[in-house]
Amino acid sequence: MKECTIEGCSQPVKARGLCSTHHQRMLRNGCPHTIRKKMKKEPKQCQWVNCQAPSVSKGFCSRHYYVYRTTHLDNHNAVQ
Ligand SMILES: [Zn+2]
Ligand SMILES: [Zn+2]
Repeated sequence: MKECTIEGCSQPVKARGLCSTHHQRMLRNGCPHTIRKKMKKEPKQCQWVNCQAPSVSKGFCSRHYYVYRTTHLDNHNAVQ
């Protein structure tokens, strides 16, 4: 059984001298070494000044989102 030609990889060859993992990467990225970056959901912080809490909605933490929403609604009601 042949092994993958990628250094440090000892998986059996699937195609073109590459194992299934590296062959997939080759097909997807054109390079067996490139790992597709997964779309990680990075924890965003609340955009409120000096607030370190993680944002839950619209870039605000739960507390500030509530404030934001209330303010927003108040303004909205004022217009009507
Ligand atoms: Zn491989
Ligand atoms: Zn906040």
